[in-house]
Amino acid sequence: MTATLFIDGAWCSATAGGTRQIHCPADGTFVAEVDEAGPEDTIAAIRAARTSFDAGVWAQSPASARGDFLLKVAAGLRERKEEFARAEALDTGKRMVEARLDMDDIAACFDYFGKLAGQHTGRIVDAGDPNINSRIEVEPIGVCALITPWNYPLLQAAWKIAPALAAGCSFVLKPAELTPHTAILMIKLLDDLGLPAGVANLVLGAGATAGGPLSTHEDVDLVSFTGGLETGRLLAANAAGTVKKIALELGGKNPNIVFADADFDAALDNALNAAFVHSGQVCSAGTRLILEESIAERFTEEFVRRAEGIRLGGPFDDTAETGTLISAAHRDKVHAYVEAGIAEGARLRTGGTFGEGDLAGGYYYLPTVLDRVVRGMSVVRDEAFGPVVTIETFTTEDEAIAIANDTIYGLAGAVWSSEAGRGERIAKRLRHGTIWINDFHPYLPQAEWGGFKQSGFGRELGPTGLAEYQEMKHVYHNLTPAVTGWFPEH
Ligand code: NAD
Repeated sequence: MTATLFIDGAWCSATAGGTRQIHCPADGTFVAEVDEAGPEDTIAAIRAARTSFDAGVWAQSPASARGDFLLKVAAGLRERKEEFARAEALDTGKRMVEARLDMDDIAACFDYFGKLAGQHTGRIVDAGDPNINSRIEVEPIGVCALITPWNYPLLQAAWKIAPALAAGCSFVLKPAELTPHTAILMIKLLDDLGLPAGVANLVLGAGATAGGPLSTHEDVDLVSFTGGLETGRLLAANAAGTVKKIALELGGKNPNIVFADADFDAALDNALNAAFVHSGQVCSAGTRLILEESIAERFTEEFVRRAEGIRLGGPFDDTAETGTLISAAHRDKVHAYVEAGIAEGARLRTGGTFGEGDLAGGYYYLPTVLDRVVRGMSVVRDEAFGPVVTIETFTTEDEAIAIANDTIYGLAGAVWSSEAGRGERIAKRLRHGTIWINDFHPYLPQAEWGGFKQSGFGRELGPTGLAEYQEMKHVYHNLTPAVTGWFPEH
């Protein structure tokens, strides 16, 4: 498969002829060959987006028409759900059941922004004079660079594509180089549904080369990035050169606090889900389990026992409960964090090794639990982005909050207690962008998602997720122009 770049309404190959082979990380099978864009392709995509935006082919269309278009995208995605889910499963190695759930969430995201599109159209400002028509107009921000990671490839892209199109923007999408296929399918769907040429453009390839111009080119008005902290810092510095707007959705080191009075079984079950769904390759994964001292050992023993029972397997293994890591390099990185923790004195309760036997052909890593950790350890401090949980203990609410907030990140966290007042008290004091009380992981397309501190800035989803792609313009119309006399004629 080549001609997988989409620039100015046409499928094309990379100018320099570069290609990349995609393999399924669950077993190494060959998936497809795709184009590997160079900076020149990305610049062409940016120019196409700029031209389409300046021509107003999408930007000037009625917001309600854009909303209707997004509802058609949602319907089209539901019709082709199996094809999309399969493509996502093959690229990421995730189980089909999870890939299908992702597609449901993506369709719901397009529905949400489709319905919101016509509602954010500005407001009248009372100037206190009937001869002045003063109003705030809401306009699309312009050309957007949408840069996304490999863990939820189409979901993360949808959180950007849907509001960008709702607002009337043109965009260049650059998905992660390892997981391009659902982006290709999505762009095909947009094209099939009649999106004007140049509004949606797709470049595939490595961050520094294919992605390079996206944060520096003067024709890009907004960079919306989801990915790692280091890349986010680099893009923010690059964007400063042309004072681009930038939105960053970065990593997390998310606390999951369990009090002794919590529903033990529910807290245990959700702690497993928090940490090991998609093998921990989730920005909001509950990787720091923070247990009240009096239940810590019993909870840890049960947690370890249940973690050891989790079945790993590939996309089409119906008995599998979680899957592979994305690549050998990523698995090595996860393992290095575990080894460093052990070397620094942490106790390995389970895991800490690669999958063997049937799993040896993929990049599996066993669910891993470390206790006796201290907060300075890199495995407690940094995002390993794998199935690795550290366990800390506390005796007071203040101590639990201090541990939970002791991170440079601030994406998400949870508290488990049967006392509603305590849950609310702690939620208020946690410095994270999403807090679950007696739950873990649910999110809503109508509720803003994003990070405090170094988890980034800006918000996706919700009304603010649309506002990110909009500019506000104040129009002040004097209906009775008159001489002011400020500088009289001499
Ligand atoms: P990454 O930062 O390595 O890459 C993300 C994207 O940026 C990829 O498309 C990559 O090619 C691109 N990129 C890299 N360098 C670039 C450059 N110089 N210019 C332009 N683009 C460049 O991250 P990853 O490993 O793909 O994803 C994992 C990270 O994403 C984790 O840290 C995770 O927490 C984070 N994440 C955050 C959220 C959230 O909502 N906050 C959601 C999912 C993932």
